[in-house]
Amino acid sequence: MTPLGRRLARRIRTQGSLSVAEYMTACLFDPAEGVYTRADPLGREGHFTTAPEISQMFGELLGLWAGACWQAQGRPARCLLIELGPGRGTLMADALRALALLPAFLEAAEVVLIEASPGLRAVQERALAGRVVRWADSLDDLPEAPIFLLANEFFDALPIRQYLKTPEGWAERRVGLDEAERLRWGLSTPLPGHPPGLTPAKQAAPVGALVETCTAGETITGEIGRRLRTHGGAALAVDYGYHPSTAGETFQALARHKTTDPLSEPGRADLTAHVDFEALATASGATAHGPVDQGRLLQALGIEARAQTLKAKATPQQAADIDIALRRLTAPDQMGRLFKALALTAEGAPAPPGFPA
Ligand code: SAH
Repeated sequence: MTPLGRRLARRIRTQGSLSVAEYMTACLFDPAEGVYTRADPLGREGHFTTAPEISQMFGELLGLWAGACWQAQGRPARCLLIELGPGRGTLMADALRALALLPAFLEAAEVVLIEASPGLRAVQERALAGRVVRWADSLDDLPEAPIFLLANEFFDALPIRQYLKTPEGWAERRVGLDEAERLRWGLSTPLPGHPPGLTPAKQAAPVGALVETCTAGETITGEIGRRLRTHGGAALAVDYGYHPSTAGETFQALARHKTTDPLSEPGRADLTAHVDFEALATASGATAHGPVDQGRLLQALGIEARAQTLKAKATPQQAADIDIALRRLTAPDQMGRLFKALALTAEGAPAPPGFPA
């Protein structure tokens, strides 16, 4: 058991079992031992690798996507370019470099990074040295203006709750203790009615089904939607997830690039859940575009041409690496289909690039 695991066991003994959301929040953001607070969880040395860390092409194309949306919406003179959960700052650094092609957007946009981890904020500061950017804790702290927002592998890191449909009603899956004081799964007594945040498909799941809810994610897309409806703009969320909404367990732990038991090493494994794109889109109250497969989006945004341009100036080894990255990001048997992109705009706004009108 990890030190955080021993602390959680004490907490459970004195205060009772934890919801999956409470457990996830502790494992990811405990001030001393959380995965995101303790060290840099990204990349080869960490637990997982994300698309912007695979290739500069990803952040470049997403940055230009935001710029194209800004142009299509009449080039508002003042707006916010926001990234949720910027990790190492790689995506935003690549996006801003590519957006040198559209200097008027860079002039109009205030760049805001929304990041919960102080350690990662420091990494982002280094990646974006020389750029004018600012950090915020949440969208609520930002001025009212059109938003152009990017979020890669952000929503999968938000805390979820799990519920099992029993013949007596919904029971919450919780983290408790066994006789040896090790963490183990347990179930609450049946709850009255449906738990909060269940889509109609999840409400209608058969007895024996396990469902997940992410009300934190829905609160955030709700605020994104309010801003889109009020001021305009566009948002793009790329993640692994499902659409339409459906029952099923997707909660998983990844430690040093391998899946592991989510209860076995709290604070030493990244915890995520697949994103319910339908639930996020519905909660936004905005117009949803897609989701489309990441591979299809990147192809539509011109990743092949970008790879060719980069290869023209590359050594043979670099050119081979660019081809490998291109395949990893787009091939259906790699990230191309597992990852999906959902775009949100106000009703009546032009369909964003890469999304069918
Ligand atoms: N987008 C990056 C990092 C993905 S990891 C990439 O693609 O490489 C998830 C990121 O979201 C981390 O930066 C993590 O610290 C941040 N994060 C998770 N929950 C958050 C929250 N509630 N508020 C702000 N940032 C959060």
